[in-house]
Amino acid sequence: MPKRVQRRFAHIVLGVGAIGAAAAYWVGRRRGGDVLAIEQYDLGHGLGASEDHSRIIRHAYHSADYTALTGPSYAMFEAVQERTGLALITRTGGIDIGIGADGEVMVASYQAALAAAGHDCTVLDSAELRRRQPQWHLPEDAIAVYQADSGILDIRKVNAAHIALARQDGVEFLDRTAVQRIESEADRVLVVTDRGTFSADTLSVCAGSWTPTALNGLDVRVPITLTHEQVTYWSTPHLREFAPDRFGVWIYHGPQATYYGFPVYGEAATKAGRDVSGRVVTQETRSWEPDEGNRDDLTAFMARHLPDALGPELMTKACVYDLTPDRNFILDTVPGHPRIALFVGAGHAAKFAGLVGDILADLACDGGTEREIAAFRMDRPAITDPGYPTDFGFSAAMSTSGP
Ligand SMILES: Cc1cc2nc3c(=O)[nH]c(=O)nc-3n(C[C@H](O)[C@H](O)[C@H](O)COP(=O)(O)OP(=O)(O)OC[C@H]3O[C@@H](n4cnc5c(N)ncnc54)[C@H](O)[C@@H]3O)c2cc1C
Repeated sequence: MPKRVQRRFAHIVLGVGAIGAAAAYWVGRRRGGDVLAIEQYDLGHGLGASEDHSRIIRHAYHSADYTALTGPSYAMFEAVQERTGLALITRTGGIDIGIGADGEVMVASYQAALAAAGHDCTVLDSAELRRRQPQWHLPEDAIAVYQADSGILDIRKVNAAHIALARQDGVEFLDRTAVQRIESEADRVLVVTDRGTFSADTLSVCAGSWTPTALNGLDVRVPITLTHEQVTYWSTPHLREFAPDRFGVWIYHGPQATYYGFPVYGEAATKAGRDVSGRVVTQETRSWEPDEGNRDDLTAFMARHLPDALGPELMTKACVYDLTPDRNFILDTVPGHPRIALFVGAGHAAKFAGLVGDILADLACDGGTEREIAAFRMDRPAITDPGYPTDFGFSAAMSTSGP
């Protein structure tokens, strides 16, 4: 019995986190607002990966696959800043710190990837780093890459700005509506929800850690691992020393683990987290309660290296990473379903939200894009080969690359 279709749109966006909100905006620009964006919870909810004061935005990456895209990504956010008058990016400068020989390998890979995209950086030894940022307590063999454009992306404002502009362009948002199944037909896509069925010429699946279930109805395998992640805010008494004009964003690539953090922003507090906590969860077993072990490990790290950033804990926020086996994004049309495009952010995509939204618009409207996204294809071994050796650290010398 043919499905009774409520309404037909040019395009549907499944999931309105950072990526879905950006896709709704950029596809809406191209499709005259004839777009429906469907979200299972309230818009701006805190249950996904996109709700907080801040995310790190940076050009500094280990690979040209990413540095080729960071420039256009800043430009997408700047275009939204222009249209809204909102300050979405705060440039603070940022450092990637490594230790000893592994640190030098990391620095060399970052220097090469930055140079490949024409971005400047400065290499700092431990003494120069301490001269510039006396807040740090580091071993003699610490080494760092400093990049001036790194900073804070106000992810909460970014999402709200994309949604507001999309609405202005005529895009419709249906919240508190769960997509139960996707049916791919020759001339359209059917999206079955708990509030009726909708159809569209094309669909963007932006479901983050829920991707495997959101693709229900399509015979597609998307191997992602969910890990419990959390960040902690401390009400440091040393607010001035950690203000954005004196202290930037940072990623510490240690031999055992990677940590990252922010100056005071959003709260009268510093913020930090450990990258890839290692606690694997499922949608059923995940918890929004802080993990004590993770918190103690992070606090011990801070006490060793940034003691003045500590103070009474203000809060700890939990969420999950949606890790692909090689921790590279998935950004592609779904094999066998050219009307359906998919994005998975692998725990480091907020800084690319605007650009990914625009690329999803290209895939929906033109069936392809001029942007270089071959590294994120769905037919790569990490996605297709069940035996692919999982490596959340981008196989560089150090622990992980950071968010
Ligand atoms: C602790 C932490 C720190 C991070 N730090 C950084 C950082 O510093 N820099 C950076 O660039 N990135 C960072 N990231 C990663 C970044 O935040 C994420 O990659 C990004 O927010 C992912 O956005 P998303 O829209 O794909 O996922 P989500 O925000 O999870 O959105 C997916 C949406 O889809 C909806 N959905 C799912 N299934 C359905 C369905 N069936 N029906 C309807 N709706 C559905 C969900 O409700 C949700 O709203 C961090 C992530 C975490 C967890």
